[in-house]
Amino acid sequence: VPELPEAETIVRGLRRLVVGQVIERVQVIHADVLAGAPAQFKKCVSGRTIEGIERRGKNVITRLSGDRWLTVNLGMTGRLLAQMPGRPAPLFPGKHHAIRFPLEGGGVLVYDDIRRFGTVECLSGEQWSARSAALGPEPLGELFTASSLFESLSKSRSPVRSWLLDQRKVAGVGNIYANEALWGARIHPARPANQITRAEAKRLHAHLRAVLQTAIDAKGTTFRDYRTAEGEQGEYALSLAVYGQQGEKCPRCKGIVERSVIAGRSAFFCPKCQK
Ligand SMILES: [Zn+2]
Repeated sequence: VPELPEAETIVRGLRRLVVGQVIERVQVIHADVLAGAPAQFKKCVSGRTIEGIERRGKNVITRLSGDRWLTVNLGMTGRLLAQMPGRPAPLFPGKHHAIRFPLEGGGVLVYDDIRRFGTVECLSGEQWSARSAALGPEPLGELFTASSLFESLSKSRSPVRSWLLDQRKVAGVGNIYANEALWGARIHPARPANQITRAEAKRLHAHLRAVLQTAIDAKGTTFRDYRTAEGEQGEYALSLAVYGQQGEKCPRCKGIVERSVIAGRSAFFCPKCQK
């Protein structure tokens, strides 16, 4: 499932490939990934220049000329790939292409989504600002500090792992990196957020940032579907300490990693060293 590091990797790849390109037209193959009507979407995007590509939380945001914002939430299996002339084509079949954006220069930007839980939208600057304002701080940004994390945790009784997954509290963290950061900070995922001590919040802050940054450096985690904008796999799966590692030895102590369901989602942790 694409989280912050996967979205960031896609953004960096696309930025190199498509900024400055003009979207010639839009081919809607599976309209169910669009939040609005296909005709309106086509009109909003066609003929505009790609001025920049950014990330906010898990979303890939393409800034278009005329203050239009093409926003993509990758859902479970969404991919954004660029096929550019003179470059080897990413290895992905056309079977799951949902939206294609042919570019004037002969390339094509493709939104591909096997399960189609992703969402593609074209918004005005005002609409996008409102959307962005509803999200929590960027965990790698300056506004996200150990004390702001502690203050924010202290207001909630949710299990800390659920708290981390709430995009309104902190943007971009999903189940993989929430579990990994909690393991790093030696905090049990079921602990109520408001019982996390200041010292623990400090550890959690440091480990969350370190895990996300290391995962960006590894171009994200590929279990099956996630690919970079160039169609490559991410390599962070090799570094996972607890996520998907149930029954394996904890890399830190002699404990055995457990999986349990907390608030409807799998949690992975070491019962011996996470308190
Ligand atoms: Zn352990």
